[in-house]
Amino acid sequence: MSKGRVHIAGAGIVGLSIAANLVQRGYQVTILDREGPAAGASQGNASAIAWTDVAPMASPGIWKQAIKWLADPLGPLTVRPAYAVRILPWMLRFLAASNAKTVAAGTRALVDLNGAALPAWERLWRVSGTHNQVRRDGCLELLDTPASLHSTRKSWEEQRAHGIAVEELDAGAIRELEPDLSTRAIGGALVPDWTQVDDPKILCLSLADWLKGQGVDFAVGEIGSLEASGEGCTLHLKSGERIETTRFVVACGAWSKHLAAQLGDRIPLDTERGYNITIPEPAVSVKRFIMLPGHGFVLSPLSTGLRVGGAVEFGGLHLPANWKRVDAMVAKARLFYPGLKTEGGTRWMGFRPSIPDSLPVISPASRHKGIFYAFGHAHHGLTQGAITGEMIADMIEGKAPAVDPAPFAADRF
Ligand SMILES: Cc1cc2nc3c(=O)[nH]c(=O)nc-3n(C[C@H](O)[C@H](O)[C@H](O)COP(=O)(O)OP(=O)(O)OC[C@H]3O[C@@H](n4cnc5c(N)ncnc54)[C@H](O)[C@@H]3O)c2cc1C
Repeated sequence: MSKGRVHIAGAGIVGLSIAANLVQRGYQVTILDREGPAAGASQGNASAIAWTDVAPMASPGIWKQAIKWLADPLGPLTVRPAYAVRILPWMLRFLAASNAKTVAAGTRALVDLNGAALPAWERLWRVSGTHNQVRRDGCLELLDTPASLHSTRKSWEEQRAHGIAVEELDAGAIRELEPDLSTRAIGGALVPDWTQVDDPKILCLSLADWLKGQGVDFAVGEIGSLEASGEGCTLHLKSGERIETTRFVVACGAWSKHLAAQLGDRIPLDTERGYNITIPEPAVSVKRFIMLPGHGFVLSPLSTGLRVGGAVEFGGLHLPANWKRVDAMVAKARLFYPGLKTEGGTRWMGFRPSIPDSLPVISPASRHKGIFYAFGHAHHGLTQGAITGEMIADMIEGKAPAVDPAPFAADRF
């Protein structure tokens, strides 16, 4: 027997994962997206189930690193001048979250959430028949200066303290694993339990196909405004259509802020824009996920090509892309893989939905019954998608989620 209908706004990996959990528990589900499945950040990310990352971005030493990176306009971190004033309040909150006490609490929350992330994905991959899209080759972190090797060792120690395997390797052992590498890397580490998917867009589209088969309705429409009622709310679409719903989830990634604000929750959500290029024939063999922590980008071998990119740009949702950032990352990638070719590559920019304390919002709306939020997953939305789906489904059913939801509450700001 159906437990009633839930409307979800946003058909990214988070909205799809919530739908998957709800439909398995006997709810009827409608997913509404202004374009369709995987229209946002979920289509072009680096494909990592990075559950072994447990440190918040805001950390006591981050400002020293940030100032160095900001000096290079095409470096790993940039603020677009036209957006500098708009991002200032977010930056101040980020700075406030960089103290040791907040970072320790954030780390505990991420250890819990990311610790549950892979098992949640294993369940969802299996039930949806997408388990053949998963690779378990680990991740190789490469450093090319003694200073960056020294500072990254601290993060490896912290990961090990949380039971995560990190195997430090010398330059020779690294090149045995990746024979096409130059001699640029002086050291690094293998994180063997790191997992990735073949291609994040293919995963989303496969999940959407499976969900359709389970009876989930997919609707195209853009929510312009919301009006909360006693229980649930009325969605006003830009097309003029109105939808009444008693159970509603906002999962619109970087575009969720104004929807939550209309429900009385002022969430400090902004976007960290990221860039990449996906190259079908890169002319080099990259055998596993390569992370370059000193340069702020990654090389991710997908079933559709080699994806090179990352970086963080604060520029809001509307400024045009600066494709020179992709060229700059490719130039740096060639220091490690000199034979890398980019012919036929497709460039992409995506909007990470980011909150200054590096934790998502997975929560009931603070003022309205029947409304829930699932956004703000920043660099880890693919990683945390399946566990977010389980937690929101628990909340809708009135059950306590397996992961303590308190650190992810909408009223924590
Ligand atoms: C360069 C880059 C690399 C990344 N790499 C990784 C990685 O390796 N691993 C990882 O875990 N994460 C990674 N991420 C982060 C990850 O991609 C995001 O956190 C995740 O995709 C967010 O998913 P989402 O479903 O919340 O949002 P989105 O995928 O952005 O989906 C939001 C959806 O909401 C819809 N929408 C918006 N407004 C409305 C409206 N008003 N009405 C109706 N629909 C609306 C949009 O059309 C969109 O489909 C990366 C991000 C970037 C940019």
